[in-house]
Amino acid sequence: MISQQTIQQILSRIDIIEIVGGFVKLKKRGTNYLGLCPFHNEKTPSFTVSPAKEIYKCFGCGRSGNTISFLMEHEKYSYVEALRWLAARYNVEIEEKELSPEARQQQQVADSLYIINTFAQKFFTDTLFNAEEGRDIGLSYLKERGFNEEIMRKFQLGYCPDQRDVFARAALAAQYNAEYLIRTGLVVQREEKLIDNYRGRVIFPVHNQTGKIIGFGARIIRSNDRAPKYINTPENEIYVKSKILYGSYQARQAIDKADECLLVEGYTDVISLHQAGIENVVASGGTSLTLDQLRLIRKYTHHLTIIYDGDNAGVKAAMRGLDMALEEGLDVKLVLIPDKEDPDSYVRRIGASAFREFIAANKKDVILFQLEVALKDAGGDSNKKAAVVNQVAETIARINKAEDFTRQQDYIRQSAEILRIEETGLYTLVNKFIRERIAKQEAKTANAADRPVSEPGDPSALAVPSDEDSLNLLFRHEQNERGMIRVLLEYGLRAWDEQTLVADYVLGEFAELADLIDNKRLLTILDLFKDWYQQGLEPSSKSFLYHEDQELSTLAVSVMDVHLELSPNWKEHYEGKIATPDELYKEDVLSTMRYLKLRKVYRLMEENQADLGKPHSEEELMMLLQTHMHLKEMERSLLQDLGTVIFK
Ligand SMILES: [Zn+2]
Repeated sequence: MISQQTIQQILSRIDIIEIVGGFVKLKKRGTNYLGLCPFHNEKTPSFTVSPAKEIYKCFGCGRSGNTISFLMEHEKYSYVEALRWLAARYNVEIEEKELSPEARQQQQVADSLYIINTFAQKFFTDTLFNAEEGRDIGLSYLKERGFNEEIMRKFQLGYCPDQRDVFARAALAAQYNAEYLIRTGLVVQREEKLIDNYRGRVIFPVHNQTGKIIGFGARIIRSNDRAPKYINTPENEIYVKSKILYGSYQARQAIDKADECLLVEGYTDVISLHQAGIENVVASGGTSLTLDQLRLIRKYTHHLTIIYDGDNAGVKAAMRGLDMALEEGLDVKLVLIPDKEDPDSYVRRIGASAFREFIAANKKDVILFQLEVALKDAGGDSNKKAAVVNQVAETIARINKAEDFTRQQDYIRQSAEILRIEETGLYTLVNKFIRERIAKQEAKTANAADRPVSEPGDPSALAVPSDEDSLNLLFRHEQNERGMIRVLLEYGLRAWDEQTLVADYVLGEFAELADLIDNKRLLTILDLFKDWYQQGLEPSSKSFLYHEDQELSTLAVSVMDVHLELSPNWKEHYEGKIATPDELYKEDVLSTMRYLKLRKVYRLMEENQADLGKPHSEEELMMLLQTHMHLKEMERSLLQDLGTVIFK
């Protein structure tokens, strides 16, 4: 929790050119800076940064945002992480906000769970090495599996006695709270009594990256059909399955050093490989990888190698997370262990150095591997093959960082070769998927779901206007909704006439036009603006730029123009007349409002025509026809005003 003062301090120091320029090579062009977009692949720069407006915008893929959203998107930081990064950069000391009572309560619960887990780990480890039952059953089992004592101590393995409540009684005697004990999953309640949950099992503590114990895996020793092989900690304040990579604490330095992370399925795979001296290894528990897990890996390395046994369902599960891995910029390889063995048994049989050699020699590129498997499945069926082509293009399209451009090209070349299709065709297809995905993301940010877009064939769009220009206007509908907010944010506080400001004019006109705005999020900006303005504050684009609601800030940025492009007609129209570019903003405001008015006129014409279709008296017919003439005249006049200024 960062205090509001600190946030303000950070925001006041931000220099967008300096920050973005640290990641993207920028060149000055007029008042703006230009560079190659880091979010899509391009050869000619269309990524524009405006120091005056403190925003960036890409005219290639449409991404836009402020310094913080740049860090969030480019570096995959959370909002708070981006603020902390900036604070460190500008030497701003972070003042932490007082935790809310709920947050403090949650923190206290978490602390209690950590303490109980530490107590439990010590109890189980002590039992394993020092108690008779522990040594006879637990320790001898682990030794039989080939683990030495050193590695058991490194991973803090343990044993829970096969008795009713030995641990529960010890924990209660040590004054631990029964409710929290249940929440850790170490004990369960049976008829008012606490009994041990992991009876007769060997215990694998699970650590977070900082080494704190967040939970346990408990493995059965004698196989028993009725009992599960493993019991794991239930989800609680500190044990969140989707964020856990087993072994990340013990492996982190080795991953950093090797610049590679090996991923296996189970606890024993991790421990065996460690014992063999291969320490850059973690386990996902056999489920598909989550975004949190991928980001955890990416903190240390960009190279992920998945090691699974060949005919295991786990391979498919691991594959499911891979599209995300590509988006996170991870380079993913796959190694399949042969002969129905797993990494644990395989490294034991062939030894560490042979294992290393095997991994190095059998790394398959995961995209090409998937492609080969899918192609084999498709056989001679050309429909299925077409689906495979689409699938691989979509996958390759997810490699979307500019620094991975070469990698993407390589994939296109190799995939085209495997598929025996033309490289250029696949390239076009990949680009299509990139555009689609970005458009989808954009739409999501702008909350497009509640915005009906006029499509060709949509009767509401085609009902009235007939000529091409009018149609164009309807397709520009979304743009002109945004335009109204834009002129308000950009020019709101400039003079409209001698007495009033642009904001007065726009807000006044808007009272009539509000029902035309389909994107309700835009109305949120408008309402906020109005509130602030009426309170005598001076709202501007900056007020929204760093609004704490990221979605709102993104939307505000997306309506802003980094360079107002005047159409040639417009320039012609004004050159030598009003002549000062300073006055052009009024024309910008006027034409934006005209678009909206024109839309209003079309809507009224539709209603009028619908009325004409209903039965009516002679008198009513005259009225309706008159209204129609009147609206037609308004349309003509608005189109004329707009045409002279805007249309080419
Ligand atoms: Zn771009």
